[in-house]
Amino acid sequence: MKIDIITLFPEMCEGFLNESVIGRARKKGTVEFECHQLRDYAFDKHKRVDDSTYGGGMGMLMKAEPIALCFEDICRKLEKRPHFIYMSPKGKVLTQERVKELSELENIVILCGHYEGVDQRVIDEYIDEEISIGDYVLTGGELPALVLADAVSRMIPEVLSDDICFEEESHYKGLLEYPQYTKPFEWRGKEVPEVLMSGHHANISKWRRERSLEITAELRPDMLDKAELTDKEKEYVKEYVKNIKK
Ligand code: SAM
Repeated sequence: MKIDIITLFPEMCEGFLNESVIGRARKKGTVEFECHQLRDYAFDKHKRVDDSTYGGGMGMLMKAEPIALCFEDICRKLEKRPHFIYMSPKGKVLTQERVKELSELENIVILCGHYEGVDQRVIDEYIDEEISIGDYVLTGGELPALVLADAVSRMIPEVLSDDICFEEESHYKGLLEYPQYTKPFEWRGKEVPEVLMSGHHANISKWRRERSLEITAELRPDMLDKAELTDKEKEYVKEYVKNIKK
């Protein structure tokens, strides 16, 4: 997969994309990233990428033309029209389900807004999807773009050391993850649950599933409506909730 990022701050993105798990995947070529400096596509006399808004109001808006030229250049180089995403607080809030779907595409291009955002006409003309990372407003789209790039990349086979990793994680199957522990066995008087030391895989799986159900019921009961639960598990959750309310 290749992810192209259009930004006024490519160094900010490069720093993140060269580190840790994502940096290793990039070096191996499992996932390709290219950050494009939008200023390189400002060809007017003053090389401006932003201007004041029509109708008045404070703040500047990113101009349509440099964004269009940059995207068209990416399409030319890829010899196809990739899925084009604009990171925006007006977008649909990102979910693990959407992340998984996007990870199956060959190419995505992500536009990072700045200032007051971008001229609506370039959104209408080119953007396939607006994605928000939550109901709050940041100064720019770089952090949201990196959140998306990170979440999508780790779904690509071989980016994580073991593909099983993400399948048991929070949100992947509609539940939150069970608690985890590492050495030492005892820390400040608190011991690791006995069952995890037993080596009995079936009991460990059962214990983890039950903790997942309990944590989800306590912290994100809204998720249980969509999670795939057996009748026995639904009954388990009902009992658990009844007991914590007592
Ligand atoms: N005027 C815009 C509005 O009210 O919807 C907000 C612009 S914001 C200050 C600047 C840029 O940051 C946006 O164009 C977008 O790219 C990015 N951004 C800010 N918050 C975001 C969020 N929650 N999710 C995704 N992108 C966000």
